[in-house]
Order: sequence, then C-alpha cells, then structure tokens
Amino acid sequence: MRIVVKVGTSTIAHPTGRLNIRHVDQLVRVMADLKNAGHELILVSSGAIGMGVGKLNLKTRPDDIPSKQAAAAVGQCELMYTYDKLFGSYNHTVGQMLITSEDIEDENRRTNFENTMNRLLELGAIPVINENDTTSTSEIRVGDNDTLGAIVAKATGADILILLSDIDGLYDDNPSVNPDAVLIRQVDEITEEITAMAGGAGSEFGTGGMATKIAAARMVTEIGCDMVIINGNNPERMYDAIEGTVLGTRFSGCK
Ligand code: ADP
Repeated sequence: MRIVVKVGTSTIAHPTGRLNIRHVDQLVRVMADLKNAGHELILVSSGAIGMGVGKLNLKTRPDDIPSKQAAAAVGQCELMYTYDKLFGSYNHTVGQMLITSEDIEDENRRTNFENTMNRLLELGAIPVINENDTTSTSEIRVGDNDTLGAIVAKATGADILILLSDIDGLYDDNPSVNPDAVLIRQVDEITEEITAMAGGAGSEFGTGGMATKIAAARMVTEIGCDMVIINGNNPERMYDAIEGTVLGTRFSGCK
C-alpha cells in the first residue's frame, strides 16, 4: 500500500513547543516497520514553527511574520534532524520537500514536485513534506497540512491518508465544547450533516481543526483513497488503520 501520514504539531510537540519524544519515537518506529513490511510511506509533518518556538526559548508563539518564519527556519532543521536520526536508526532514508501553493497550482512546478516525490519513493526513501513556512506568506500558502496531506495523497495515488490528530476522530459535535459528543467510526458519504459537525481551528499551535480534515476527506475519497483520523497519542493505531479496523474515524474512498 502507498500510505500518506500527516502528523499535527500537537502530536509531535508538547504545549511548550518542545519535542514530544514519546510520540515521535512511536510514530517513526511504526512507520519504519510498515516500510519494512513492504508499504510505501510519505510523511507530511507540521511543527516547524512550534519546534522553533521551543528551540529559541520564546515565551509564546510570535505574531509577526519575520519572527514566525525565523522560528520555522530553526524548527524545520530540528524536525528533519530528528526524523533523519530516528528513521536512520531503522536504516531508512528521508528526503525533505518544502513547498508552497505555487508548486501545486503551476502545472510545470506541480509536475516537478510529483516527479521528485515519486522518484524518492522509487529510490526507497521516505519523503518528508511540509509547507515552506520560511518563505510562504498568506497569498502563497496551502494553509494547513490536512489539505497538503490530501494534495500529496492525490498526487501519488495513495491508498490511504492517515491523519494523526490531538483527538480520537470526528465527533458529532466539537468535544472540547460538548462533553456528550459521540465519536463517528465510519463515514461512507460526506453529507452536509457531516460537514456541519466540524467546527473552526482547534488547538493553540495547530491551524486546521476538523473543517480542513473533512475537506481533505472530500478530496481523497473522490480518487478512491481512504482517509482515517486517529489519535496521535497512539501511533500504533496505524497498524489497525491499515488492516481495516479503525480506532478512530474512517472515510471510505469511492471505489
Ligand atoms: P491536529 O493538528 O492535531 O489534527 P487540530 O486542532 O487541527 O489538531 O484539529 C483537532 C481539533 O478539532 C480537536 O482538538 C477539536 O478541538 C476540534 N474539533 C472541532 N469540531 C470537532 C469535531 N466535530 N470532532 C472532533 N474534533 C473537533
């Protein structure tokens, strides 16, 4: 299977912005094992700005663009250093790809991006993809990595897109507001009712929330790719997601 994994800042960093070693260790171990089992893996990882905030010992996430981009420049190094070291310990090679929306919207650049990503897979490497937070401004941003994950899944004809989130899956109402909200395990069709269940952006460091996840599901299910939301506290749940049982929410691709 060709598997795209998207991991949110809230999974890979503590609220302090510092690396969540337990989560990242488990994430890399499971992905390395899935690769050993013969699957192809692509990682879309957020977290550059959050990690930079931690590494630079900033008290809060900055508001101004130059400081955010400086934090991203520092944090992206820290992220790749970590992935390179951890995947390397399982004898796997990573390749970094940083993109902006222009790389997707412009046909020539998109072809280039897709060719590089596919060649990395052919060479047995694990592409690690992120928005280029050091140069992208609001006009040229994809905006969030749920959407970027869906773009990558479509571009590579992936079988499954796995979103590791700070929550177990899609609930019928925002569980941070409504404690009686119920987890939805399976979505066969993205109806207006499903779309209405998603609120706005969620955590302090994340930018997506459920709305972007539903939009991502709509993009990938159209091409027959499944999408699964699971809790990033338990990267081991990726095994179940691949085997078809989901301890989260599965959106079935149109077959
Ligand atoms: P991550 O980047 O870790 O995926 P996000 O903040 O982007 O985190 O998205 C998850 C958040 O979306 C949840 O923590 C929750 O606050 C919010 N949310 C809003 N509506 C819902 C819903 N219907 N079901 C689940 N989470 C929801």
